Amino acid sequence: MSENLKLNTILAQAGIKNDKTTGALTTPLHFATTYQHPEFGQSTGYDYTRTKNPTRASLEETLAAIESADYALATSSGMSAIVLAFSIFPAGSKVLAVRDLYGGSFRWFNQLEQEGRFHFSYARSEEELLTELTDQVDVVYIETPTNPLMVEFDIARIAKAAHENGATVVVDNTFYSPIYQRPLEDGADIVLHSATKYLGGHNDVLAGAIMTSDAKIYEKLFYQLNTTGAVLSPFDSYMLLRGLKTLSLRMERSTQNALAVVEFLKKSAAVKEVLYPGKGGMISFKVVDESKIPDLLNNLKIFTFAESLGGVESLITYPATQTHADIPVEVRHSYGLTDDLLRLSIGIEDSRDLVTDLQSALEA
Ligand SMILES: *Cc1c(COP(=O)(O)O)cnc(C)c1O
Repeated sequence: MSENLKLNTILAQAGIKNDKTTGALTTPLHFATTYQHPEFGQSTGYDYTRTKNPTRASLEETLAAIESADYALATSSGMSAIVLAFSIFPAGSKVLAVRDLYGGSFRWFNQLEQEGRFHFSYARSEEELLTELTDQVDVVYIETPTNPLMVEFDIARIAKAAHENGATVVVDNTFYSPIYQRPLEDGADIVLHSATKYLGGHNDVLAGAIMTSDAKIYEKLFYQLNTTGAVLSPFDSYMLLRGLKTLSLRMERSTQNALAVVEFLKKSAAVKEVLYPGKGGMISFKVVDESKIPDLLNNLKIFTFAESLGGVESLITYPATQTHADIPVEVRHSYGLTDDLLRLSIGIEDSRDLVTDLQSALEA
């Protein structure tokens, strides 16, 4: 793929024109697990599908291009991409992470800490993070905007400070996607995604992605992934390639819809606070009367009460009992993830229907 193509072109043309044998426009779905050697001592470049698969390779080429990376790997889930990232750091490494994290990441970090494999400290704000960022820190791990409080962290500023202290910067870019944020361009060393969310976009494929432009890091990631095997299946690679083609259009519409929903929420008497950073499809809000949350969730008709995000259909999540239930309640409350908070993933429906649905459920 040419270096200087614009993002929308890369996305629309993801995986096309790469089958020289038939000229098939889209990437064929290669189910074969093994590949014939042309002769003893020779390889077509494909030997065994855990190591390399043509459908997955086509996806990985696009994944690298959209994050301005030299390399990308597609994994079986977002969590497996996170596990893969940590597999390259030596035991005992000191990790400084943002406090407001995806619940599953926090659950795993906590387990690593208890097992004594890594040491974690957490920062509630960018200032706190920069203060704690000393030369004792090996890895800085950020999600921005944070989940679910939607606070933005300045990747370029953090990456500069981290590199001055010899630390590696890992960014989970699931919420903004490369449409709104390309962490490697801002100096991060590794960017990863739950591709289950915006990259896939249709709530029908579980996948992860990890990108870097550092050849040494890539070599370690590739070795670990090939050895431990949490690769993305050919079918899911195909699904993800297909979903990626409309990422830009979906993001644009989600943002438009989210702006309309935010405008309504800010005016609603039932809403105490709206947390929205100004772009993207994720909105959190706090309600005045927490006891009405079950009724609210039951009364919605267009929004679906479900975990996850980033798909074409709008979802509503209650982090306290769903995505963030594994974070101890004292910890959650200490940084503002209180039980009156709901999280919306805004899809590509007509925003008027979304607003009407919220209005009738909130004011019922
Ligand atoms: C969902 C999610 C993950 C985990 O990804 P899976 O694909 O569910 O394994 C990681 N980070 C963020 C921000 C997420 O939303």
